[in-house]
Amino acid sequence: MNASSAPRFAMTRPARHRRPWRTRTALAITAALAYIPAVAAPAHAFGPGTHTKITEGALPDFQAKSLEAMAAGDLGVNKEAWGAIRGSDRGDYYPNQTRYHCDDADYLAAGYLKGGQYPRTRQQATAELLACVQTAVEEFHAAVAAADKLVGSKGNINTKEVDLSSWCKYNDKPDGKEPDRAKCEVFEHLGRAWHGIEDFYSHSNWTDHANPNQPISVTNPPGLQKTAPAPFFTLRAYNNQSTATWEAEATKEMDKTPDLATGCAHDEYEHDDQKHHNDCTGRINHYDVNGKGGLSKEGSRADTGGNGKHAESVATDDIKRQWKDFQDELRAKYPHGRGEKMICALTHDAPTDATCK
Ligand SMILES: [Zn+2]
Repeated sequence: MNASSAPRFAMTRPARHRRPWRTRTALAITAALAYIPAVAAPAHAFGPGTHTKITEGALPDFQAKSLEAMAAGDLGVNKEAWGAIRGSDRGDYYPNQTRYHCDDADYLAAGYLKGGQYPRTRQQATAELLACVQTAVEEFHAAVAAADKLVGSKGNINTKEVDLSSWCKYNDKPDGKEPDRAKCEVFEHLGRAWHGIEDFYSHSNWTDHANPNQPISVTNPPGLQKTAPAPFFTLRAYNNQSTATWEAEATKEMDKTPDLATGCAHDEYEHDDQKHHNDCTGRINHYDVNGKGGLSKEGSRADTGGNGKHAESVATDDIKRQWKDFQDELRAKYPHGRGEKMICALTHDAPTDATCK
């Protein structure tokens, strides 16, 4: 993030109009740099380009234009177009929904508090995280379904459905979608599923170290120091189970790490009620008012113990797993070579029956 890439009008946007990886945080840092030159941005902080970097790192088998459609930030001169991985930070609806960003799963055990009770229970935090997993599972499911149109019943590529000569619109509405080319629809749903997963690593303490020089508190939550992707984002497995079954499994996994938390985001709606913003008083916050503290790796937490680097690396490993699992699901759901051809249609810029055997 640098000052020139920050839209000037963004400073006066309503708080709920969130930007990628919380550009508002980056803007606050940018503002601080502008007025107080001594304040430096964290060296490994997540910025708006981090979704792009993670997604590109996880998809080495994509050709250039397909990769751009999936992973890019702003696409070239067209500021109304963006890669699918950015879709959930755009528009009026998705940016405010906790479950698309794995936020508000905050909790701190009583043992860390100097008396008193944390404003939320462990069960509430787990329920918020389950909602984020469920959202990703639903988007995974929709992506598998949308792939059906890429390849006809006789195994022929539907040329119109894979055409990338104009930008994908990525404009599905929560109350019904606006159909685009099948390739764009697959990317849109994968983008929404994967965005939340990438956010989880930036917004949670999964890979973190806490600051060793301060006591554990709401401003210095414990770090779980994990080096592998979270076991409760097994979207492919969950997609093939009943909701009750996978929720029980995911809860069991989450219960293994009772200190697991993401931050309360004050510009999102409480439990998706579309009316009330979260009251984050006394809670682990996504970021503080200055955009410097908080649990998110967009602020100074990124610099503690290499937190920013670790989160990015494990997020990349997870998206590699997600892409592999998605391909496996296409092969299983669409047998006799159709699934394999769909994968070719997704990764190749101008796929044809001749180039995708
Ligand atoms: Zn997000």
